[in-house]
Amino acid sequence: MSLTLRRAREAATRIAGIATTLTPLKESQSLSQRLGRPVSLKLETTQATGAFKLRGAASAIMALSPDERRNGVVTASSGNHGRAVAYVARQLGIPAVICLSDLVVQAKIDNIAAFGAELSIGGKDQDVAMERAHDIAEKRAMTFISPFDNLGVISGQATVGLEIMEQNPDVDTIIVPVSGGGLLGGVAYVAKKMNPGVRVIGVSMERGAAMYHSLQAGTPVIVEELPTIADALQGGIGLDNRYSFDLCAAHADAVVTIDEDQIRSGIRHGFYHERLVLEGSGACGIGLLLSDRAKDLGDNIVVICTGDNIDPDLFLDIIAGQPAAKTH
Ligand SMILES: *Cc1c(COP(=O)(O)O)cnc(C)c1O
Repeated sequence: MSLTLRRAREAATRIAGIATTLTPLKESQSLSQRLGRPVSLKLETTQATGAFKLRGAASAIMALSPDERRNGVVTASSGNHGRAVAYVARQLGIPAVICLSDLVVQAKIDNIAAFGAELSIGGKDQDVAMERAHDIAEKRAMTFISPFDNLGVISGQATVGLEIMEQNPDVDTIIVPVSGGGLLGGVAYVAKKMNPGVRVIGVSMERGAAMYHSLQAGTPVIVEELPTIADALQGGIGLDNRYSFDLCAAHADAVVTIDEDQIRSGIRHGFYHERLVLEGSGACGIGLLLSDRAKDLGDNIVVICTGDNIDPDLFLDIIAGQPAAKTH
């Protein structure tokens, strides 16, 4: 089993009605002007849960048998995937358990709790929460839904790529925030199938960039998890990774990292110039375009703005904390 264009298209059909399957692709006046080349933003912030993860969760859960659905689903997630699984489970009226580490921010806990899922919080990092989710899956005969390393999930994330290619056939570079690589792998695969000339670049934070270091090493490696504003990008890719690593290795052109200040600049730019609320992870693409490296990044750029689930106090701090001039 592997990702195909057909599987991505089937996922688009499966998730319609639960996830938004044509999110806006909006030209960024500010970034286009700054770079002298068209830049547009794919606004996954408009999904009901505020992030693209709804696509993958809906795709995987809609593919389960009636028996599997009845027993319910379990996952471990630093926030957006857990929220998406909880949302889909509630839509379908099936049980869901969401395992979170102690690092997860309160706003995300509240968001998931609001969807009525059972929460299991504890452990020093995402990997510990992940082990607990596997235990629960076995003990309670629930289906484990990986945040990124599941073909159903990846097919769902790949639908973002299908849409970008239809909305902007002239795109030559797609910038994708990356953690476990479900989104990057899925988007890179379909974009290149539809137009082999398109470049697909992953971006993540310097602090604990698991996919970046794994690609450098040529195999999945363990990377220490560190606090970062891009909290949705925390966590490992799994030493036993089955799909997302190979997809990223084969189809992504590069993965680059940016520092915490550059992520902050991305958040500020999104708000001051585009009137967007973005979480750190969702602002990494804009952060990259504000950096020196933007000059090498192509002539017609699409940036995926992946999510808006940021703690309101943190957001206000970032917006108020630094003069906006720094981001201009
Ligand atoms: C999960 C997530 C990502 C990264 O997606 P992966 O498929 O794990 O690489 C990026 N941005 C946000 C907001 C996310 O929630």
